[in-house]
Amino acid sequence: MTCDLIHKELRINAYGSFLRRRFGCRVSKVNVDGGFTCPNRDGSRGTGGCVYCDNSSFSPKDTQAVIPIEEQMEAGMAYHRQRLQSEKFLVYFQKFTNTYAPVERLADLYRRALDHPDVVGISVGTRPDSISDQAIDLLSELARDRYVCVELGLQSMDDAILDRINRGHTLAEYLQTMERLAGRGIDICTHLIYGFPGETRAAFLKSARLLSGLPVNSLKLHQLHAVEGTRLAKWYREGSYVPITLDEYLGATCDFLEELSPTISIQRLYGSAPLAIRVAPNWNLKNNQMWFAVVNELKRRGSWQGCRAESEMQAANG
Ligand code: SF4
Repeated sequence: MTCDLIHKELRINAYGSFLRRRFGCRVSKVNVDGGFTCPNRDGSRGTGGCVYCDNSSFSPKDTQAVIPIEEQMEAGMAYHRQRLQSEKFLVYFQKFTNTYAPVERLADLYRRALDHPDVVGISVGTRPDSISDQAIDLLSELARDRYVCVELGLQSMDDAILDRINRGHTLAEYLQTMERLAGRGIDICTHLIYGFPGETRAAFLKSARLLSGLPVNSLKLHQLHAVEGTRLAKWYREGSYVPITLDEYLGATCDFLEELSPTISIQRLYGSAPLAIRVAPNWNLKNNQMWFAVVNELKRRGSWQGCRAESEMQAANG
């Protein structure tokens, strides 16, 4: 039986639909730069950062730490009001590690974001090794009457890959943080990437089964891609990183979604970078084009998110 969170034609449990059901209107995420850094860059956890990391590739140019978050929010909200007719907003602390600061500073930033009358919640991007008990207590307190989402970057469940990409944390640390966050009223989003050197589709699909058994509310997935100024771009030019093809990504993403619990809503299925810094792969798709390519492939297969998880459950129940 198809999960009732997925309309037959949509095939995927979309996060946008979740937000509309929860808040009764169109809700957009507005990125802000809270002026954080990252423990995998400043030496406390590692130096040099993840091999693919160039924060400018995933941050709009108008989110500068020197600009007060209120100004950043107003600019982002105006853009989404005009472009998408959005009525309410989630403030997304995106750049670097947004729990990596004393809790007083976190409280000030998060509360200032939530003070705006059109803001219904916050989303906080962070690493599994960088969220203190005090930060979890703060987020849990805010979540008593507001929507609060923590976005944990896992990227891969394979410790050998995490080591190779200089991620600076392990799967065990992600699982421990999941345990600490569970049951605190906080939504949990996990970030994954597919296409690491040496990664197989079969190994990647195991992460769908892993996440399906955890208290994960939503997921962001994208293909590994290299941008200028990163070690990954150097590896590409030396030939030690060969990007996956679009066909491989589409096939693997559909396989992954079929295995993934239908209760996990999908925030993203694609990562893109501005043309000026994009190195490889160069698929030249917009986010919605990738989304519809995945939906069309699921339609062609006659499948949907969670269909394989459901049949496995039915088989197990006899
Ligand atoms: S954890 Fe995030 S911000 Fe830090 S180096 Fe990795 S990708 Fe960059």
